[in-house]
Amino acid sequence: MKTAHKSLYEDVQVQFNKAADLMKLNSGIRNILSETANEIVVHFPVKMDDGKIEMFTGYRVQHNNILGPYKGGLRYHPSVDLDDAKALATWMTWKTALAGLPYGGAKGGIHIDPAKYSQNELERITRRFTYALGNNIGPEYDIPAPDVNTGPQTMAWILDTYLTTRSQGERNNCLHVVTGKPLNCGGTLGRDRATGFGVVTNINEWAKSNKLDLTKATFIVQGFGNVGSWSAHFMKEKGSKLLAVEDVSGIIYSASGIDPDDLIEFAKKNGGKITGFPNTVAITHKEFLSTKADIFIPAALSNQITIETAPLLNVKLVAEGANGPTSPEADTILQQRDIGLIPDVLCNSGGVIGSYFEWLQNKRSEYWELDEVIEKVRKKVVEAYTNVSKTAASYKTDLRTAAYIVAISRLESAYKERGIFP
Ligand code: GLU
Repeated sequence: MKTAHKSLYEDVQVQFNKAADLMKLNSGIRNILSETANEIVVHFPVKMDDGKIEMFTGYRVQHNNILGPYKGGLRYHPSVDLDDAKALATWMTWKTALAGLPYGGAKGGIHIDPAKYSQNELERITRRFTYALGNNIGPEYDIPAPDVNTGPQTMAWILDTYLTTRSQGERNNCLHVVTGKPLNCGGTLGRDRATGFGVVTNINEWAKSNKLDLTKATFIVQGFGNVGSWSAHFMKEKGSKLLAVEDVSGIIYSASGIDPDDLIEFAKKNGGKITGFPNTVAITHKEFLSTKADIFIPAALSNQITIETAPLLNVKLVAEGANGPTSPEADTILQQRDIGLIPDVLCNSGGVIGSYFEWLQNKRSEYWELDEVIEKVRKKVVEAYTNVSKTAASYKTDLRTAAYIVAISRLESAYKERGIFP
């Protein structure tokens, strides 16, 4: 899973310009949306378990907040840098606008390989990062959430640190400073599975309009973290068969199928690793990408489907669980090869939609039932999918460009109505 790439932010601009040209976007608004609003870089010291002090670099990029508070995840990964954070923040603006949420877009994280640190060190790193961000985050201003290598525990540490720095009277009003929290810290039922559920809801919509029978379909998944594992679980519920899985530990394949729920249990007991799962064989990265299946769900990092790897794919549909897995050049190759693609800003939007419902519950001091949350996520995802497919038909374009057009049109209207200060 090589990640080196020239610039993810350049890729975002290529995608944006294609949509902006097609929809004839107002040139002033085009200038605004081509830039990020704020780029925060913090360097902070943390004491390690052996007493030594290490410096870390963290980022939070806020792209746009015309529709509401900045919103988006924090990732802990060696690939995190300013360019990546800018790209990922911009995608969040499109994602929230497309889903019709009252949010803008942001993203951030720490340039770190979390596998090299103990739990205690990760806790101190997270708390010190939160402290360094200070008032750059806030429940009505910028609301982080989990992303690659961060989860409910990370959110609990951020919440606790943020609340500790508030006045006594303010603390209980600020639970919604982060989403994706553990249940007892103000998290919502369903947020854990929301992204994967949204991915499969999108696949289901695509399958209906493309006459693909999911009860007979096969699929492969790249990445078996939150998004990949829950997507596989919900695909199994539809009756589809998982043939191969790739993650950082290696790749497993079985022609007779891999049970996603058994694999989740197996990985839990094996330090998150999928390799060695019974009745599977190891295959190479190239063989994985060339696997004949109906659907490929990339649910790991960006820039996996490139000019080199796009020609290898042997599937009917790519459903982007990850953010930015496909480069613009690879998009063109997939279109030429007649491979369908559900773009990230639509395909993985179940996650931030779930976050929105957590945020609302916190604001109202409510707890909703699992079924209620999941049904609300489903409705929003289907609505977004329907808007995108209608727009794709009317502009005679691909689903990614159509998703951008729906999102950017909403932002354009808001700017036109509000005008520019002063
Ligand atoms: N990190 C997720 C994403 O890329 C979720 C963001 C959120 O819930 O704010 O969409």
